Amino acid sequence: MHTCEICGRKSNKKYKAFGYVLCQKHKRQIMRQGRFLDNNPRTVNDLNEYRIEGDVVYVSLYNQNCDKIAEFVVDLYDFPQIRYKKWRLSHGRVVTGTAAKKIRGVENVIFDMDPPHNIFHIDGDPLNCTRENLLVEI
Ligand SMILES: [Zn+2]
Repeated sequence: MHTCEICGRKSNKKYKAFGYVLCQKHKRQIMRQGRFLDNNPRTVNDLNEYRIEGDVVYVSLYNQNCDKIAEFVVDLYDFPQIRYKKWRLSHGRVVTGTAAKKIRGVENVIFDMDPPHNIFHIDGDPLNCTRENLLVEI
């Protein structure tokens, strides 16, 4: 294992550039931009970080620079359903997928609804995706 000198990310791959041992992200930054843009080990390919608290799970959301900007909450019961998808905030909604493939809201993934249904957040907070806060329009 090698450790990036900029962000501390560990990797089997080792890049050396300008006298640094680097991860792929930071190798790319210095090669393309001539400098390091951040010291954040996250890349856009990483799954969302999460934290289990009792019977709910808080899942982190990031902007395009991989900085944490918010977190949403789901029931622990529903976590396996959403765990291996990449989540982001789009127009205030928690979504996964791309326009080219298919964008799905987290509420519809939780209830496994395809085609999607209108699902409302009872408390008005789109980041509260616990079942007791979700109301499905049938
Ligand atoms: Zn790095």
